[in-house]
Amino acid sequence: MSFVKGLVCKECGKGYEKLPIHVCEYCFGPLEVDYDYPAIQKVISRESIQNGPPSMWRYRPLLPIDGDPQVGLHTGYTPLVKAPNLAKALGVKELYVKNDSVNHPTFSFKDRVVAIAVTKAKEMGFDTVSCASTGNLANSVAAHAAEAGLKSCIFIPDGLETGKILGTLIYGTRLIAIHGSYDDVNRLCSEIATTYKWAFVNINIRPYYGDGSKSYGYEIAEQLGWKTPDNVVVPVAGSSLITKIYKAFNEFKDLGIIDKVTSKVFAAQATGCSPVTTAIKNETDMITPVKPNTIAKSIAIGNPADGYYGVKTTKVSGGWGEDITDEEVIEGMRLLAETEGIFTETAGGVTVGVTKKLIQQGRIKPDESTVICITGNGLKTLDALEGQFEMPTVIQPNLHSFEELYNNQVAV
Ligand SMILES: *Cc1c(COP(=O)(O)O)cnc(C)c1O
Ligand SMILES: [Zn+2]
Repeated sequence: MSFVKGLVCKECGKGYEKLPIHVCEYCFGPLEVDYDYPAIQKVISRESIQNGPPSMWRYRPLLPIDGDPQVGLHTGYTPLVKAPNLAKALGVKELYVKNDSVNHPTFSFKDRVVAIAVTKAKEMGFDTVSCASTGNLANSVAAHAAEAGLKSCIFIPDGLETGKILGTLIYGTRLIAIHGSYDDVNRLCSEIATTYKWAFVNINIRPYYGDGSKSYGYEIAEQLGWKTPDNVVVPVAGSSLITKIYKAFNEFKDLGIIDKVTSKVFAAQATGCSPVTTAIKNETDMITPVKPNTIAKSIAIGNPADGYYGVKTTKVSGGWGEDITDEEVIEGMRLLAETEGIFTETAGGVTVGVTKKLIQQGRIKPDESTVICITGNGLKTLDALEGQFEMPTVIQPNLHSFEELYNNQVAV
C-alpha cells in the first residue's frame, strides 16, 4: 500500500509522477515526495507506531515506498541516550545523544536514506545503484546493494579515510576515487547519470532518499515521550538531514501525533567547510560554495544541494549555526567518549564541539533540553586520531614490570 501521490516541486508546486527524477523542468527547483496525508492520518497513531517493528519501518506510512521494504529491515530505532555526564561538563541540565553511530548495518545515519533508496531502486526496476559519497553513503549503498542483489558503482573523492574505503570494498562493489573534492565527484556523477540508467541514490532518487532521514526526527520525538526538544544540533553536509528532522517534527504535529513543535534547529559544520553556517552567520540564504579543507570529511560538501533549505530551517525554527576548528573536532570526539562512553566519528566531534560553543554563546540555555545528533561511528575515522595519543608501553609479563610502570606513571 502506498501513501505517495507523486512528486511535487518544492518551489513552484508543479506535480510529477513517481519517477526517478529530482529537478522541476519548469523552475529547476528540487522535487519532493507528495504524500496523501488524509489517508496517512487514518492509519497512523502513537499506538500504531508503538506496535510497529523496532526499526525505522515503524513509521512506514510516512516513508516513500510503494510496497514492503526490500532491504534494511533492521535500520533505525537507534538509542536516544540521556547524557548527564556530558551535560554536567557543558553546564546544562538536560542533554541527549541520538546515537546513529550504532545504526544497522553500516554504523551511520546514511543507512536510513539508503534503505529507502535501494528499495525504490528495486521497485523501479534498476539493476545498478550508484552514488557520489563522502564515505558513509558509500559504505551504506555498497552494503544494501549486496543485500538487494543489485550491482553497485560508487564514486568518492580521493583521500578518504581507510575505514571508509575498505568498509565499502568489502561488499564487492565497483569503487571509483576521483581526483578532487566531493563537489567534483558529484558534478561528474550528474554527468554520468544522463547516460547510464542507474539509480543514483542522491541524484535521480534523491526526493525519495532524503525522506529516509525523517525517521531520525520521528524517533527523537517518540523517544522523548512524544515531544520535541528545545534544541537540536545537527551536523550539516548537503543539508538534507537538518531539513528532514524539522519536517518530521512538523508532520507529527500536523497529524496530531505531537502537540507542538518547540525546537530550535542548529547547524553544525567544521570551519574548513562551512558554507551553510557562514551563510547563517551572515544572515543570508545565499550559499557561497567553498573548497573543503577539514578532517570532518563525511560532512565536507562545499556546494550543498539543499543548503538554502538548511539555512531556512535554522531561521524558521529560531535556531542558528556555528562551526569549529579541526582541533575542536578532536576535542569534541574525546569529550563525548570520556563523558558518555560513545565513540563517534569526526562529524560527531563537530556536533559536540558546536554544542559546547552554542552553550558558551548563550544561544543554548542551561535549563533547556537539547538533542545532539551523533550520526556516525568513530571506528571509521581512526585516521583522524593518529598521533593524538601516546601508544601503550609494552612490559614483560610479570608483576615487577607492571608495578614498576604503574607506580611510576602519573595517574590520569
Ligand atoms: C552525510 C552525513 C551527514 C550530513 O548529511 P546531509 O544530510 O548531507 O547534511 C552528517 N553526518 C554524517 C556522519 C554523514 O555521513
Ligand atoms: Zn518548479
